[in-house]
Amino acid sequence: MVQQRGTRMTKYRSKIRQDIPQSGWTLQECFDNETANHRCEACGFPKVRFVHRISHANVGTPLLSGCECASQLTGNPELSRWREYELKKEAIRRSKFVRQGWSLFDNGATEWKHVVDRAYWLNRADDGMWSLSWSQRNRPTIVLSVGHRTRDAAATALYKTLGGPA
Ligand SMILES: [Zn+2]
Repeated sequence: MVQQRGTRMTKYRSKIRQDIPQSGWTLQECFDNETANHRCEACGFPKVRFVHRISHANVGTPLLSGCECASQLTGNPELSRWREYELKKEAIRRSKFVRQGWSLFDNGATEWKHVVDRAYWLNRADDGMWSLSWSQRNRPTIVLSVGHRTRDAAATALYKTLGGPA
C-alpha cells in the first residue's frame, strides 16, 4: 500500500514540465472555467475546469494550471484546495438558481421565477434566442437582456445580474 502511494506520487511529479522552476510559485487567483477543457500549462492534463493562476519571480508570465500542479509548485496545497472548494460551492449555488424554482408557461417558451418582490421572465423568441426581463405588480415589463443562445445562458445572466443569490 505504502509503496503504491509512493510510486503514484513519483509518477505524478515527473509530469510537471522540467523547463520551469519546480517550486517557489505563488497562487494569484483561481477561477471557474465552467467547462473542463483547459489544458494545464504545468503538466498538459487537458481536462481542467478550475484554473489556478500561479506566478514566479523568475518567470515572465503566470502559469494557468490545475489544482494538483498549483499545489505542488506553490507548496501550499491547502490554499489551492480551499479556493477550488469555494468555487465549487459557488458553481452549485449557480446551478441550483439556474435550474430550480422556475415555473413553465406556454409549452416551455416562457418561464418565470419570483425573487424578492419581482418576477423574472425567460422568454424564447421565434428565432430561438432567449431574453430576460422582469415585472412588478401594476408596472410594465422591463427587458434586461436579449439574444441568449440557451435558456440556461439567460438564467445564468440573471444570476450574475443579481450578484449570485442563494
Ligand atoms: Zn497540471
